[in-house]
Amino acid sequence: MLRLTIILLSLLFLPVSIAAAPDDIRANPERMQQHITALAEFGANADGGVDRVAFSEADRAGRTYIMRLMRDAGLSVRLDTAGNIIGRREGSEPDLPVILFGSHIDSVPGGGNYDGDVGVIGAIEVIQLMQDNGIRTRHPLEIVSFTDEEGGLTGSRAMNGELGSEALSVVSHSGMTIGEGIRAVGGDPNRLDLAVRKPEELKAFIELHIEQGAFLDEENIDIGVVEGIVGIRWWDVTIDGFANHAGTTPMDRRWDAMVSAAEYILAVNHVASTMPGRQVATVGRIRAEPGAPNVIPGEVVLSLEIRDLSAAKIQRVFNEIKAAGERIADTRFTPIRYEEIDVAAPPAPTDEQMRRIIAASADELGLSFKYMPSGAGHDAQDMAGITPTGMIFVPSVKGISHSPKEYTSAEDMANGASVLLRTVIEIDGGALE
Ligand SMILES: [Zn+2]
Repeated sequence: MLRLTIILLSLLFLPVSIAAAPDDIRANPERMQQHITALAEFGANADGGVDRVAFSEADRAGRTYIMRLMRDAGLSVRLDTAGNIIGRREGSEPDLPVILFGSHIDSVPGGGNYDGDVGVIGAIEVIQLMQDNGIRTRHPLEIVSFTDEEGGLTGSRAMNGELGSEALSVVSHSGMTIGEGIRAVGGDPNRLDLAVRKPEELKAFIELHIEQGAFLDEENIDIGVVEGIVGIRWWDVTIDGFANHAGTTPMDRRWDAMVSAAEYILAVNHVASTMPGRQVATVGRIRAEPGAPNVIPGEVVLSLEIRDLSAAKIQRVFNEIKAAGERIADTRFTPIRYEEIDVAAPPAPTDEQMRRIIAASADELGLSFKYMPSGAGHDAQDMAGITPTGMIFVPSVKGISHSPKEYTSAEDMANGASVLLRTVIEIDGGALE
């Protein structure tokens, strides 16, 4: 009798055990390409890319298309008050927290057809594969298309509770303020509190995205397991010299802020290139005062930006640059001052277990992978503050992104979606416990 009960029980749970072993289930490259191509119609421009900035007519039409795809895949679709599109598929244990995955479909002006789109279309593909193969999960699944990623991670910041009222008055590329835009897509900017997701509601968040860099393409690797989104710090650096006549002041009596700036810029590059690691440091802007050909510059203001996956590393790079700057200042009698600009985005590491699950999923599918940071910002960085978060990268040909020339092959997109499917199923099966 006991034996019979066990057999009956195992029969009862059979669909779940089937769900745990989808070794041969792969995403369909043709179907994904077809959806990407159809989505590219909305906001298509003459260069072959898209102008689908958030809240524009093209964005709204694209959103309608995505909602249709979600419904066709069997999802029940709703909008949260930030206008995030959310498609839900119930689990066999409805009280379990939600496994959430997705990306965005808005573009930069003159953008491409893959940034964000691959993550949303890939998420829909995962649900479609589950439908086609009769896979039932224990956890409820939700897929999300975030509002206005390119204009400042609007939708994901609403989800983590960090979208303040000052952000709502910022004018977006659509010409509408972000608040007006959220209203235009069906959200309610006065009730953004309702869009906030609590940690206990979510099991995990996963974002599939194109790399937007060239590492995977150049090294011929299928999948990037993202270790985190790098943090950014910015400074205005002011070099004080002494403005004087360029004709009458001999070379050995100058306090030339521009010459110090030249040495300083080389020092920034040298420090960031010679320290071990993948940190980057950039001087992207420079202004000399008074800015005349016949005056020795009395002041130079330049920007300093440093990015890395570790906040401590950013600080270390800054300290070395500062020390190098002091030596230049002392030799040339041009003091250097720093003012930090408040754009700082702290590094957002992905969940360690999640990285292992993604890597194992790629491996089991016979795909090559490498661990890598993301130099670009993503909605995942906001979600990392709420729930264990992982990111899957697929190759961007030549690393080109935010351009109509952005390209990822259908096979690479499908590889990413296959890894996403497997990752979701592993998490559902308890891999995060
Ligand atoms: Zn993106």
